[in-house]
Amino acid sequence: MSQRTSRLLAVLEEQGLPAMLITSPINIAYLSGFTGSHGAVLVTPAESFVLTDSRYVLQAGDESPGFAVCQLVEPGKEIADWLVELAGRLGFDQCGFEADHLTYAGHAALAQGLAGRLELHPTAGVVEGLRMLKDAAELDAMRRAIDLTDQVMDAVLPQLRPSHTERQAAWMLEQALREGGAERPSFPIIVAAGPNAALAHHRPGDDLLGQGRPIIIDMGAHIGGYNGDLTRTIFLGEPDDRFWTIYDIVADAQQRALAGVRPGVQAHELDALARDHITAAGFGDQFGHGLGHGIGMEVHEVPFVRWTTPGGQSVPLQAGMVTSIEPGIYLEGWGGVRIEDLVLVTPKGCEILSSAAKIQKVTG
Ligand code: ZN
Ligand code: ZN
Repeated sequence: MSQRTSRLLAVLEEQGLPAMLITSPINIAYLSGFTGSHGAVLVTPAESFVLTDSRYVLQAGDESPGFAVCQLVEPGKEIADWLVELAGRLGFDQCGFEADHLTYAGHAALAQGLAGRLELHPTAGVVEGLRMLKDAAELDAMRRAIDLTDQVMDAVLPQLRPSHTERQAAWMLEQALREGGAERPSFPIIVAAGPNAALAHHRPGDDLLGQGRPIIIDMGAHIGGYNGDLTRTIFLGEPDDRFWTIYDIVADAQQRALAGVRPGVQAHELDALARDHITAAGFGDQFGHGLGHGIGMEVHEVPFVRWTTPGGQSVPLQAGMVTSIEPGIYLEGWGGVRIEDLVLVTPKGCEILSSAAKIQKVTG
């Protein structure tokens, strides 16, 4: 049994669940290795299963050592039929499901197929909770994605010219990511020049990068199922007076937060380290998003580093978490500055995983 499966079983035991059905494709891949587009995973203490159709039976056998493969046939032997059969064979009468990942219609169909023979219990964030703590294989994959992201940023920024459009710049970055071995960008690359940089998630368009204005570039490499994520703010030519004022506040806010990353710190306390500095400088209302987010198989995943957390519970940082630290200030009509790096929480503090160069003010 894999470590990931045994960690899940420990949580199920705490929750009093004898079995759990996993339907999120990312959680399926995390637990079993199976990457087909259709299927489910059933985890029980005795044995675990990948349920999929004929297109993927062989693939599941290869990708999911330690899991028995059950073939779905529609109509005939659907997930509910397998659940009833396996519950009878292994002796359980309740099963957890992922409330965030089973649709209303999917749940109704499942319940109808089960016809009361197995009791379904909603669960929330169980596998996501496991995924917060990265194991060694995941950290290797993340370092590959992050290192390539850094290399591409460092290689492409010096090639940018004021006459390039945002879209051309985004394509230069995407090309370099793929040539470097990325399967795809982690998300559509953001290049936002001048006033567009006031929009935290601007979509690159036909506007020119231009001279003397802030340019926010946010991108990442997706390799081996894991994502990089990196933001740099640059300018071409000479920036206006405001640029360095704003840039320095954001850079200081980021340093304060980075210095505060260690196990035991609550996510909202970390957010406050950066936010209080930006607020004291007079720009609190212009920093409208959270300080950061967990990252791994998904670009945005728990823990969310925000001033509040959904449901009001705060998450204490733990060694093995990987999160972004990305404060920003956005001024309508002018533009914005955001600086983003990824960090690994370590037993004593943190390791900054991102290594792409940051712009330096030339004085003298
Ligand atoms: Zn980003
Ligand atoms: Zn991010």
